[in-house]
Amino acid sequence: MTGTLYVCATPIGNLDDVSFRLLQTLKTVDLIAAEDTRHSLQLLRHFSIPTKVVSYHQHSSRAQSDYLLAELLAGKNIALISDAGTPGISDPGEQIIATCILRAIKVVVVPGPMAGVAALVLSGLPTGRFAFEGFLPRAEKERREALATLLTEERTMVFYEAPHRLRETVADMVRILGDRKCALARELTKVYEEVKRGTLHELLQEVETSAVRGECVLVVAGADKDATTLASAEQDGEALVAMFLAQGFSPAQASRHAAKMSKMPRPELYALALRLSKDKK
Ligand code: SAM
Repeated sequence: MTGTLYVCATPIGNLDDVSFRLLQTLKTVDLIAAEDTRHSLQLLRHFSIPTKVVSYHQHSSRAQSDYLLAELLAGKNIALISDAGTPGISDPGEQIIATCILRAIKVVVVPGPMAGVAALVLSGLPTGRFAFEGFLPRAEKERREALATLLTEERTMVFYEAPHRLRETVADMVRILGDRKCALARELTKVYEEVKRGTLHELLQEVETSAVRGECVLVVAGADKDATTLASAEQDGEALVAMFLAQGFSPAQASRHAAKMSKMPRPELYALALRLSKDKK
């Protein structure tokens, strides 16, 4: 009989967030596959879990994945954990989970913390429908393109971001999505947990003046349906110009395309395109 892969969520800061079932699972499996063995040993030592730990990360070799599969096929039970939160959510896991499903190996989840959901509920923004966007691309052009595709997204959006990239990301959001309600959740479940709620523009002013430290999640309001479809043809034009510039079009080309797609006059869009491309330099 084959073993089971247990996908185990671990705390995102506060070790008291472990569940009884998590500890039981980690204690009773044959093997723990961890994203960073040294990091996970802190958790395992804290709870006196003696189970053998092996490494499984994003760049794990084929041999390492094959080893875990062979162990599962031989009947061993394996717990998969990442550095924090839920494996497979902006963390390694997706691939081995998919392979196990394909090979008819049982996969069980031991649910628990996930930073994006914790930030979403604290944001005060609508939670009925949301889009988890994870990390935006690091390269400016790709990041702006990704944001441009979210211009008309009406669900609340959840982004992960490194603190040192926050300023650039928020600046691009203001430029492309326009000013919207947002919340920045920092150091969740830790001593310095903090949630700043306001608008993207206010947040930009803040991150421009003081450095943000720690881990953070940015939650941004979805597009206002009426505003995007009726009233904000103007903002659409501006966002379209930003998007075309980000895609490498010249100011003349960007304003020509944006004018065709929005109700804004081309000269106005051209002036904006020149201003935006100057800002970029
Ligand atoms: N698998 C994790 C989860 O379930 O949330 C996410 C891992 S991802 C590599 C790390 C990112 O999650 C961080 O850059 C940050 O955006 C977010 N994050 C993790 N822990 C956090 C915390 N305590 N407070 C705020 N954000 C956190």
